[in-house]
Amino acid sequence: MEHDDVLTMIPGPTPVLPSILEALGQPTSSHQAPAFVETFRLCLAELKQIAFAAAARPFVVSGAGTLGMEMALVNLIGPGEQLLVVSQGYFGDRWAELAAAFGVPHHVLRAEWGRAVPAELVARAVAEGRFAAVAMTHVDTSTGAAAPLRDYCRALAGRDELAIVDGVCATAAIEERFDDWGMDVLLTGAQKALGAPPGVAIVLASERALAKRRALGRIPAYYADLARWSRVMDDPAAYFSTPPVNEIVALREATRTVLAEGLDARFERHARLARAMREGFAALGLEMFTAPDCRAETLSVLLYPAGVDDARFRPAVAHRGVVLAGALGPLAGRAFRVGHMGNIGDREVERTLRAIGDGLREAGPGL
Ligand code: PMP
Repeated sequence: MEHDDVLTMIPGPTPVLPSILEALGQPTSSHQAPAFVETFRLCLAELKQIAFAAAARPFVVSGAGTLGMEMALVNLIGPGEQLLVVSQGYFGDRWAELAAAFGVPHHVLRAEWGRAVPAELVARAVAEGRFAAVAMTHVDTSTGAAAPLRDYCRALAGRDELAIVDGVCATAAIEERFDDWGMDVLLTGAQKALGAPPGVAIVLASERALAKRRALGRIPAYYADLARWSRVMDDPAAYFSTPPVNEIVALREATRTVLAEGLDARFERHARLARAMREGFAALGLEMFTAPDCRAETLSVLLYPAGVDDARFRPAVAHRGVVLAGALGPLAGRAFRVGHMGNIGDREVERTLRAIGDGLREAGPGL
């Protein structure tokens, strides 16, 4: 994989391949031009394949992951209905913020940062409460913790609560079987493991979810209303609101790239690169923040050794052409985050580890 310039190793946006940038840079066409309509259709079909979601309906709209979260909430939860939020960090808590913004009563099961909520607690909470839906985060990008998503879905199997999954930091890198595991909504953005530029929200919805949307009648949304978009997603030649033509052409090149690699190979590559990164981090004496039993394969959160200052370290690494992310919330200044998802390979891992090693030497206490 070729990324010769600045290497953006943050947990999204991820490095974009030249072939995908080239697709982005194609002349902007009418959103109803036959070639674009066909590309959009293929993109939607390939997104379903990526999430093993043959029975789902895909939606792609201008926006980002947060719009996907908002769409899930406003389309599936009616007045007075309650939401269970399973949170393992900053983005899990975003579900609670969204619920508060829309006046949705909610209960939050919150893990200590760096850990995941055990599936048994989810099972107990739904048995004891009365929730219309459960909102989960597959990988929380703030803590690097991966949830036992399959077990959460098992805890909901055969029950009425709708299973809403934020796959933003996982979809197309870590296995997610929408149909088999019984998800109702899976959402992501283009700019993470799919390796496309930012600009679109992606939502997969089950028939059960769409039936719920219909049953709600009027909802407090217009642009975010799945019912208004359904016609376009069935027939991309139809119009509701102008689709982001160039971003969709780029996203389709990204979905084509994912399937050309093969899903099993792609998941295996992410696991292998995560191992290589972690061996490198250990060799540099860096300590991982996330508990060993729930480390996501898409990013790592590293604690700063004593005396290394975030304000000196990350610019020193950036000076070597590798961009890393700071930490969020209570970890801000105490840790840094390295994304390792999307269209990257051994070369990017090696370059990143070398830049981190040099950055530590430059920003470390001894110098
Ligand atoms: N959920 C997770 C797990 C994320 O990592 C992010 C973005 N980092 C979001 C939601 C929000 O996505 P966006 O920034 O695309 O709105």
